[in-house]
Amino acid sequence: MLENFERYPLTFGPTPIEKLDRLSAHLGGGVEIFAKREDCNSGLAFGGNKLRKLEYIVPDAIASGADTLVSIGGVQSNHTRMVAATAAKIGMKCRLVQESWVPHDDAVYDRVGNILLSRVMGAEVELVDEGFDIGIRESWENALEDVKARGGKPYPIPAGASVHKYGGLGYVGFAEEVRAQEETLGLTFDYIVVCTVTGSTHAGMVAGFAADGRAERVIGIDASATPDQTRAQVLDIARNTSALVGGREIGDGDIVLIEDYAYPCYGVPSKETVEAIRLSARLEGMMTDPVYEGKSMQGLIDLVSKGFFPAGSRVLYAHLGGVPAINGYSYTFRNG
Ligand code: PLP
Repeated sequence: MLENFERYPLTFGPTPIEKLDRLSAHLGGGVEIFAKREDCNSGLAFGGNKLRKLEYIVPDAIASGADTLVSIGGVQSNHTRMVAATAAKIGMKCRLVQESWVPHDDAVYDRVGNILLSRVMGAEVELVDEGFDIGIRESWENALEDVKARGGKPYPIPAGASVHKYGGLGYVGFAEEVRAQEETLGLTFDYIVVCTVTGSTHAGMVAGFAADGRAERVIGIDASATPDQTRAQVLDIARNTSALVGGREIGDGDIVLIEDYAYPCYGVPSKETVEAIRLSARLEGMMTDPVYEGKSMQGLIDLVSKGFFPAGSRVLYAHLGGVPAINGYSYTFRNG
């Protein structure tokens, strides 16, 4: 039961669900598309999915007596921005390792967007020349040791706040919130579309929606381009999270991860991703980013277009945030 876990509020409360009428009509009107706006969930530095996870991790960090949150991501990581904001809010220091996960063109890529915000919020930012990997990283372990060597007390938060004992709880809460909103709205969603990389967002949803038989209705769109590792991580976190909250056992068949949209690699948008970003921006005024939500939007559009969802389905697109990263992609959008 989720109520048994302490939660430190970092978000405004339940996130709005918005019908995307013009996008639904543009794609033929056969399915109804809605968006749950996790990107609008908080006043902390533009918000996003990590805050739901961090709400269950912060009580543990405070109880540990730590004075510094230590985390890791790519140069334009949304997660590290959210850890920087959380540290500021709870009065801790923040140490961030930003690895070179993404090949990029923009001259200001490491100076704008997420990394700019983290610097302004007072995080100590270290740039490390290592490639993409969602696993536990030596650079992060070194940062933890360095904080200790300087007399600090670090609290470790892994990439995406995923491989953490409480990393999946936040998105169990998402499923509970959706059920309550469905009751108010007088409808149910047949599918939930979510972008998946480090895995605990998808995994928490699987554990949460397993309670009403919809685990495999959570359609993960891989944006990691290392889908075997991501799928294994989702399964592992979903299993552990479900056991924590007293849910049913989670198996392989509960994890649906579609691999078709992550190309050419993590952090680099394809022509189709860029088209999807423009389409949802131009039809709905809804901004998505080139690393994560643009790829899940591309997946949503393609799956609707090819009839993956039966006619009459209601599809809930989980908009997980991430728009600040688009500032690092000005060359991609220089012609609009
Ligand atoms: N969408 C955005 C905006 C993100 O920042 C992330 C973080 O990695 C994801 C999706 C993927 O979530 P997860 O890492 O929990 O799989």
